[in-house]
Amino acid sequence: MDPYFSYRDSGLYCEDVAVARLAEEFGTPLYIYSKSAIVAQLDGLHAAFAELDPLVCYSVKANSNLSVLKVVAERGGAFDVVSGGELRRVQVAGGNPRKTVFAGVGKTDEEIAAALEAGVLMFNVESEAELDAIARVASAMGRVAPCAPRVNPDVDPKTHRYISTGKKESKFGMHIERSLALAEAAAKMPSVSLIGMHMHIGSQITTVEPYAGAASKGVEIIDAMRRLGHPVAWFNMGGGFGISYRGGEAKPVAEFARAIVPVVRESRCRLILEPGRVVVGNAGVLVSRVIFIKKSGEKTFVIQDAAMNDLIRPALYESFHRIWPVSPRAGATAPPDDFEAAIAGTTACDIVGPVCESGDFLAKDRALPSIERGDLLATFSAGAYGMVMASNYNTRPRAAEVLVDGSSAKLARRRETLDELLAPELVEL
Ligand SMILES: *Cc1c(COP(=O)(O)O)cnc(C)c1O
Repeated sequence: MDPYFSYRDSGLYCEDVAVARLAEEFGTPLYIYSKSAIVAQLDGLHAAFAELDPLVCYSVKANSNLSVLKVVAERGGAFDVVSGGELRRVQVAGGNPRKTVFAGVGKTDEEIAAALEAGVLMFNVESEAELDAIARVASAMGRVAPCAPRVNPDVDPKTHRYISTGKKESKFGMHIERSLALAEAAAKMPSVSLIGMHMHIGSQITTVEPYAGAASKGVEIIDAMRRLGHPVAWFNMGGGFGISYRGGEAKPVAEFARAIVPVVRESRCRLILEPGRVVVGNAGVLVSRVIFIKKSGEKTFVIQDAAMNDLIRPALYESFHRIWPVSPRAGATAPPDDFEAAIAGTTACDIVGPVCESGDFLAKDRALPSIERGDLLATFSAGAYGMVMASNYNTRPRAAEVLVDGSSAKLARRRETLDELLAPELVEL
């Protein structure tokens, strides 16, 4: 187990706080984040890429809780946003818009104007039409918009098809020839300046080869852009560094750095990274309480109060999360290192939520030690793409969130009330 979530005295701790205590105090389902884990990941990224003086732009969409963004901002961090809403969050959390890059395939004129007003570092531009829109809005505001074309290097990141973005047939970015045509067009637009080149090839990438391949294409593209007269000073390699959900499957960031740094160095650019998952993924757990245990035929269903509306990753990407009791009962131990192998004293269970969908599960055929109604379960590696994708499906209030720092724990988002859920709906009764 890692230092931030560990089993002590037969119970799970986040840093120096007992998870069971937090569940009592704040209720379930509950997301719990470790501040030290987030800081350690940010520091690790800075150290691994230090040679290129990187701007580590935390990808807000992975976990956009204001308390998390404040942790990043306090470390002098930079941000990657994909909407006007995320930009607002960065500003409210005390982040610096001048260290913020604005990505996303569908920026509206209003979002472009707000980003120019805020003074973002640059726009990652995904199409010719978007470049035209940025040029028009910037010109009307008497500004020059700093931009970086998003280039699709056509590499296969070998990840789930829903989170693979760098192949030719993706909706994201432009393939190389098209991005160079865009650079030619941009050279004639006085209200835009191409100061960078952007790529983001996918998410949960666990091998370094796709990055190495993409980076060397990037160096050539930057050379070509400079020949067209653009002052390219930033090589934005995007995010996508994978994490270990099972244990040990992802490479440490230092290995990614070893593959990326020597290639990017040739471009004489400063490096931008847009890591999301690797910063927060393993810094969070989702805690739930068992409502019923239901046996039907051969199957055992553990029905607990976290559902697909709280954590949709298993349903959406068939993804794996380690799950284990917060306070294992007598005879049971800390979670095993290897969830794939047979584990003595366990039963294979489907761990499901109360939502009316067959896709509502956190795990299927999963080994669990003996548990009873009312026990707490921890779903690990839930810090990224968890709460941000939560919905109110089945009119379920979204989970509360807590940020732990050493021996202190602060509520980072209180649980929604049913009245709040219904408030925006207009009906005459
Ligand atoms: C989602 C996204 C990221 C972050 O991806 P991770 O896999 O969480 O690191 C970075 N850049 C862009 C453009 C994205 O869309």
